[in-house]
Amino acid sequence: MPSSHSKRVLLAAPRGYCAGVDRAVIAVEKALELHGAPIYVRKEIVHNKYVVETLTERGAIFVSETEEVPEGARVVFSAHGVSPAVREAANARSLISIDATCPLVTKVHKEAVRFAREDQTILLIGHAGHEEVEGTAGEAPKNTIIVNSPEDVAGLEVADPDNVVWLSQTTLSVDETMETVGRLRERFPNLQDPPSDDICYATQNRQVAVKKIAPDVELMIVVGSANSSNSVRLVEVALQSGADASYRIDRAREIDDKWFDGVTSVGVTSGASVPEILVRDVLDYLAARGYDTVEEVRTATEDLMFSLPHEIRADLKAREAAASA
Ligand code: SF4
Repeated sequence: MPSSHSKRVLLAAPRGYCAGVDRAVIAVEKALELHGAPIYVRKEIVHNKYVVETLTERGAIFVSETEEVPEGARVVFSAHGVSPAVREAANARSLISIDATCPLVTKVHKEAVRFAREDQTILLIGHAGHEEVEGTAGEAPKNTIIVNSPEDVAGLEVADPDNVVWLSQTTLSVDETMETVGRLRERFPNLQDPPSDDICYATQNRQVAVKKIAPDVELMIVVGSANSSNSVRLVEVALQSGADASYRIDRAREIDDKWFDGVTSVGVTSGASVPEILVRDVLDYLAARGYDTVEEVRTATEDLMFSLPHEIRADLKAREAAASA
């Protein structure tokens, strides 16, 4: 058994909240502050249980579809984006929409619209059923084929093999996506690339940090919810990069003491939708078990910020004007 003072934690940086999540959560908070409860939110604003529970306590009501929102009420669209059909459904019910779609998801939507206009077939690498993929595919449903994994490539049928382009979900594994693209290019040598990376900076940065730490730890703990694509990818990346074991947890209370047999070094990271308080709880848990030396391993510095959705900015401005009148 290692002596307790040799136990340590390598804490990944960057970790946790990205700019798109920060903006989406603040959008709901501001909507509650400006207009009072309830504020409806279509789908989970970001894929994190704690965030959803906290906003629910403050008066947000999470619904699956706009049909569940009373006519004329306010509804926030989540950071994952929505298809044009959802916007139309909201308009048909006279809902007041606040669009918290991450600008980096909107960028992919715009690419899909452009490629569809050029009548290209869009091979959208991503997980069928994920809200972001549904939203992006919904921009160009006739032109889009979803590619779930490298194994899907062999069975693809396209109208014109010389007129295909790939796009991707923003929160995938960089390595697996590149493998899928490689296979796509073998099948379609004239495959066109997107104008820039669709896998966003936050997803990439969190994976790079985990790759750096994984070879030096026996156990990697990833804080994040089960439906958080980027969090689930972090577990896969940790295992592929040398961690002996890796587990995803929502909260510190889910940690199992059995995971620590023979473990001297523990890696800790969190997905892009995870508030730092949940990581602090995990560090406290580890410290109580002797893992009280924490070394932060930083592979990038992030300073990107997005302005709030324009609907919220307009309402804030109107409130200011009313206050000064
Ligand atoms: S993970 Fe990336 S795409 Fe998703 S909300 Fe964050 S910055 Fe935007």
